[in-house]
Amino acid sequence: MAVEERMTFIKKQLHSQSYKLTPQREATVEVLLENEEDHLSAEDVYLLVKDKAPEIGLATVYRTLELLNELEIVDKINFGDGVSRYDLRKEGADHSHHHLVCIQCGDVSEIEEDLLAEVETKVEREWNFKIKDHRLTFHGVCNACQTKAAEQSHQKETVGQE
Ligand SMILES: [Zn+2]
Ligand SMILES: [Zn+2]
Ligand SMILES: [Zn+2]
Repeated sequence: MAVEERMTFIKKQLHSQSYKLTPQREATVEVLLENEEDHLSAEDVYLLVKDKAPEIGLATVYRTLELLNELEIVDKINFGDGVSRYDLRKEGADHSHHHLVCIQCGDVSEIEEDLLAEVETKVEREWNFKIKDHRLTFHGVCNACQTKAAEQSHQKETVGQE
């Protein structure tokens, strides 16, 4: 879906909760939409928003991000480095998506599909627990880092044979 359409959708979500999409909020959402692949911290968002709305302050950006989080438009996530990051929820998704975090290069990829349906059914049935959401982050070594490591060990072997 195009950035404009998604902006309209988010505007409706805000309106339905009696919030307005002020120009400053709009600039913040725009930055999130344009950088959807990146998991930006409040400071990252602020620096990008400043290009669009130079008069905006960090506190305003922070409050906007917190509001979007409350309205479940963005998820606030922490990958264990002590930094809160803001992540747009996928269109129509009830639950937050899963992440793969590389422990070597820090790359973050997303799994959009909710892989937990079976687990959720089991938990709801056996613990009589109504699930609203979940966080799932896998920590490991990404494909690029595995390839690099394999190439390096191959090189070492070749050198060793000489
Ligand atoms: Zn994400
Ligand atoms: Zn789920
Ligand atoms: Zn990696």
